[in-house]
Amino acid sequence: MSTIAANNPALTSWVEVPQNSDFPIQNLPFGIVKTSQLTPRVASRIGDFAIDLKSLYVLGYLENLPFEHSDFDCNTLNVLMKRGKKASRELRNRLSKLFDSNYKDLQKNQHHVEQVLIPIDQVTMCMPVEIGDYTDFYSSREHATNVGTMFRDPENALLPNWLWLPVGYHGRSSSIIISGEPVRRPKGQIKPIPEEPPIYAACRNLDFELEMAFITFDGKPMGERISTDEAEDFIFGMCLFNDWSARDMQTWEYVPLGPFLAKNFASSISPWIVTLDALQAFKVDGPEQSPEVLSYLEYKDQKSYDIQLEVYIQPENADETKICTSNFKYMYWNMAQQLAHHTVNGCNIRCGDLMGSGTISGPTPDSYGSMLELAWKGTKPLPMNDGTERKFIQDGDTVIMRGFSSKDGVRVGFGEVTGKILPALD
Ligand code: CA
Repeated sequence: MSTIAANNPALTSWVEVPQNSDFPIQNLPFGIVKTSQLTPRVASRIGDFAIDLKSLYVLGYLENLPFEHSDFDCNTLNVLMKRGKKASRELRNRLSKLFDSNYKDLQKNQHHVEQVLIPIDQVTMCMPVEIGDYTDFYSSREHATNVGTMFRDPENALLPNWLWLPVGYHGRSSSIIISGEPVRRPKGQIKPIPEEPPIYAACRNLDFELEMAFITFDGKPMGERISTDEAEDFIFGMCLFNDWSARDMQTWEYVPLGPFLAKNFASSISPWIVTLDALQAFKVDGPEQSPEVLSYLEYKDQKSYDIQLEVYIQPENADETKICTSNFKYMYWNMAQQLAHHTVNGCNIRCGDLMGSGTISGPTPDSYGSMLELAWKGTKPLPMNDGTERKFIQDGDTVIMRGFSSKDGVRVGFGEVTGKILPALD
């Protein structure tokens, strides 16, 4: 990949960016915002401001780019993503130039600046993408090993296919929601006493799954595959992803076709899509893969990303407690391999598809990406700062996930994805 101008670590902006902000000039993610005055529109972010791209376009700052007014005057990023990787890269490079300390045109026009920059506390973040298909992988070796150890056999924790292919399943996009939307505790079939028949009740073992997701551009025609070399050209960007899970429903229902109602009641995403371009500086080597993968899963160069991930629980009316620190780089199967595998049979992907990584667990107990693992099936309750403890998520709890990359003094982050659990309905 050629050098991307907007990624230059030496760049600074004339917009003040607080220290440790996830959104310096090197990030420039995309999202959809609205305010009490403004209709939903495409935006970017720098420091504590949303950048109104509709206004930037109207004021003439986005001239000579392959975009039209209607690309920004809309309530999803899909139209913009339809323009493809090259166009979105050019757009981000333009934003980088406009907000560079050395560029005066916009900076000196206070009237324009006031139209274009909206204080972040005045905006409501909207669902950024109209998600078509949602696929969830299961690509963390540590997570798969932990789950296999708990529920099957520690000696054979990984099923025979796991080291040969990125295991995945098709999820449901209708219940993917934006950060901040509360989640109702699900009801369904659970089997609290193994020797007795199931009962209809509210989930008792409600869990989160610490994941990241990537959003795709339009893929190739049905019947063709995307190679690992090509895969990143089909990825627009990434977000944090909490794949809420009802463990007691999952245990009972998942045989033989995999999870169903245990997973499809809600999944939450963070509101800013950080472009894959912005993450290029944070590439690292992935885990060694053994046995050697089949030819279509082989890859060149680095395809893993160093993104630190954190999970917090905030009980109702109490401070948050950090319960997990993990990293996206732990993933055994990388995104290029996931996409290559997903399309190897000719399955087509479309603009706005979302692919979840699967729960991201690291090697140590404090890096496990779910309550199931952190509290080890309820046997090791986690202490909260307010003196209570948790085996799973309780009503009134808010789960908060944060993530960022950091290198050479540049921090590119995702902000957060949060969701509060409401009691089950009668
Ligand atoms: Ca999942």
